[in-house]
Amino acid sequence: ANRRNSLNFSGGPGALPESVLQQVQESIIAVPEVGLSILGISHRSDWFAGVVAELESNIRSLMGLSSNYHVLFLQGGATQQFSMVPMTLLRGKEYAAEYLHTGYWTGKAIPEAQREGPVRMLWSGEDMGFTRLPKDDELDFSVDAPYLHYASNETVEGLQFHRVIGRDDVPRICDMSSDFLAGPGEFDRFSLIYAHAQKNIGPAGVTVVVVKDELLDGAPTDLPGFLDYRAQIKAHSIFNTPPVFAIYVILLVTRWLRDEIGGLDAMDRINTAKADMLYQALDRSCDFYQARAHRSDRSKMNVAFTLSSPELESQFLAAAAHAGMSGLAGHRSVGGIRASLYNGLTISAVETLVSFMEEFRARRR
Ligand code: PLP
Repeated sequence: ANRRNSLNFSGGPGALPESVLQQVQESIIAVPEVGLSILGISHRSDWFAGVVAELESNIRSLMGLSSNYHVLFLQGGATQQFSMVPMTLLRGKEYAAEYLHTGYWTGKAIPEAQREGPVRMLWSGEDMGFTRLPKDDELDFSVDAPYLHYASNETVEGLQFHRVIGRDDVPRICDMSSDFLAGPGEFDRFSLIYAHAQKNIGPAGVTVVVVKDELLDGAPTDLPGFLDYRAQIKAHSIFNTPPVFAIYVILLVTRWLRDEIGGLDAMDRINTAKADMLYQALDRSCDFYQARAHRSDRSKMNVAFTLSSPELESQFLAAAAHAGMSGLAGHRSVGGIRASLYNGLTISAVETLVSFMEEFRARRR
């Protein structure tokens, strides 16, 4: 069979672990403990209520969340959260919410917030072509902002915060779509975290929202039910028909993270080893491959780089495809090359990529 899953470097949807894919395959015909296809099991069944409860508990224990957080499984992708957050926290407010414009995706969040209320752009990397993140002395947070919004990892440019930013007395809201459950973090310093599944934890169709109770005190009561976090909390994420299949796949991924990987610290050690291997290869051949991101802000998830010309990049992509690798083209907005190293991608896949890159350079130099 022509199976190239293990060499899928796509920015999203990303590669999933082989052992999870095997279980998913079986579940399409019948989930072992139910005897029915996952595509035909009712979201109102006791079994599915158990899936949601176990998934919530797995995410809580992986992230070390205390009981004043709720874990929700919503639809509409991370894009829906670009609107749901300001709808809940900014509508009718006098003081501006603070946003960081660090790349393509936070650039999509800002205009959605501006529809709902005042926004202050705290910092923008646009003039620098989004090649770095702000340093602490470039950030002047205000105490009266309703919240601070940023992305922990910019998927397109390959920029990742390796620290928590902002004031502890202003709610932090973070888009963690592309580094969710990839490593440990000080998650209790955030009031709301959102992440769609299709990078590290599953297929498209479901977005995880982790929200602290007190954030919702004083939220508007006239929002559409579906877009009201409190209504979703009350319905235990079954406000309407949820994406049962996608939720089941993330359950399998969280079990894999816990039982096969050994938790988020262990996942981070693997992700760090993969990223180090690739960045070291880029740095060894910087006459040929140029890493895009400033060294201190390099993402462990998305490694973006360029070659000396678009023609050479096309040749690189064609040769990589010929060698069985896929998903290496940079995002359409920036071009170049991007290798995404999400949780499901193995160290051996990165070794394959690195030796391919060395051979390609030796041939073309
Ligand atoms: N935020 C980040 C960091 C992303 O990488 C993406 C998409 O890749 C989005 C938001 C948009 O996500 P969605 O397509 O699920 O709405």
